[in-house]
Amino acid sequence: MKLIGVTGGIGSGKTTVCDILRSLGCAVFNADLEAKRLQETDADVIAGIKNLFGDGIYQSGVPDRKKIASIVFSDSKKLDALNRLIHPKVFALFEAAKAQAAASGKPALVKEAAILFESGGARQVDETIAVIADKAVRVKRLLERGLSEAEAEQRIAAQLSNDDLIKRADYVICNNGTLDDLKRDTAKIFHQLFEPLLKKS
Ligand code: ATP
Repeated sequence: MKLIGVTGGIGSGKTTVCDILRSLGCAVFNADLEAKRLQETDADVIAGIKNLFGDGIYQSGVPDRKKIASIVFSDSKKLDALNRLIHPKVFALFEAAKAQAAASGKPALVKEAAILFESGGARQVDETIAVIADKAVRVKRLLERGLSEAEAEQRIAAQLSNDDLIKRADYVICNNGTLDDLKRDTAKIFHQLFEPLLKKS
């Protein structure tokens, strides 16, 4: 079974790419969703977050993510501590998902992660795909999702640039076009990933 990491900045289209890969038969593990879920359900993570940011950071069992983001933005020690709390648990969940996907005969397990390279999560996969798109295209998509232009630009600026992603990923999908373009480009990479295996057998 192949392990494929899919990453990209906010609004680039990585979730859409993972949906397409799912429709092609892959299992998908969403590391960002799992990390979010752990912050609301895992006792160690909840205690660790309260320890770092104070008990008041939780309201009705949900952490104030905006506040946490604004604190760690300018406090790298807290960011490291937060990552140390969450990433090992997400990695362990991915290992469990791997066993499950292999047992159900899936050809590939896709790991979707916004910070695949920064978190070290890329080491858990065989191949990486970066989904990129021009800033103006991403801002437009994010405005449609209810973010303000300033918020969208700030989040884009805080993430790896398209150039960095291109340097680090094995495959790059440029998602400036239509959904049909994205489906075609994703399917092309999917087939490229499996070609060497097909040739061997
Ligand atoms: P996030 O990091 O915020 O989760 P993402 O990289 O996962 O973002 P998506 O959620 O896949 O991005 O896409 C962002 C929005 O843009 C979605 O509403 C999606 O339907 C839309 N979108 C993605 N690709 C295209 C495209 N090629 N054409 C039109 N809309 C698109």
